[in-house]
Amino acid sequence: VSVDHETKGQNVAVGTGNLLLDALSAGTREKVLALSRPVELPLHTMLHEQSEMPSYAYFLCSGIASVVVAMPEGGSAEVGLVGREGIIGALHIIGPTPTPAQCFMQMAGRALRIRLEDLRRLFHENEELRRRMLEFVQQQSVTLGQIAACNKLHEAEARLARWLLMSRDRADQDTMTMTQEFLADMLGTRRTTVTLVAGSLARQGLIDYKRGKVTVLDRAALEHAACDCYRVTKEALLKLYK
Ligand SMILES: [Zn+2]
Repeated sequence: VSVDHETKGQNVAVGTGNLLLDALSAGTREKVLALSRPVELPLHTMLHEQSEMPSYAYFLCSGIASVVVAMPEGGSAEVGLVGREGIIGALHIIGPTPTPAQCFMQMAGRALRIRLEDLRRLFHENEELRRRMLEFVQQQSVTLGQIAACNKLHEAEARLARWLLMSRDRADQDTMTMTQEFLADMLGTRRTTVTLVAGSLARQGLIDYKRGKVTVLDRAALEHAACDCYRVTKEALLKLYK
């Protein structure tokens, strides 16, 4: 992923790659950057555990983080995805309730990491940062609610299409590495179901799926195959930071 390429034309002078940071005025952004440091986030890096208050928040500059709820009796499902548009840890800033979800990198990337308490202090001090963060949190809660309903109500094939599109939008590339086991965990379904529905999308020529790599071949057709949840979450995403 080339962040420099992606940010070209948006804000060349800044180019942190994180859309929230790049939408801030220079003064506010400097306050955040002064307390942040760049970190590499390899695949599967845990950004926060379930029901724990994390020490750090992350402004993602590339890569994708998954917000996943795992049940004590086994089984898990993804309820959110965050890419360059967001902050991991924003939900922990706005109140004391721990979130029942964990968050880890499903695609390796980079981030600007800041201590949660530093970000909380800036959040209370700085109206502009607060407004942008709340904007993101609102978008995130729209996505969390929509995906929760999606996981319960929609067919596996439509959900897989929705999920691939959401990942594709954040990955900025058509080919993404993901095992069947991972896809099953994300969709809260069985591996055999993933085999079946990925095979169906591949036969229709929408995706190619080989050796743990998914390539989106026909984006428009994949959108057609996805449930309406993709449109709802995409619209929330497009409204950010205007
Ligand atoms: Zn759906």
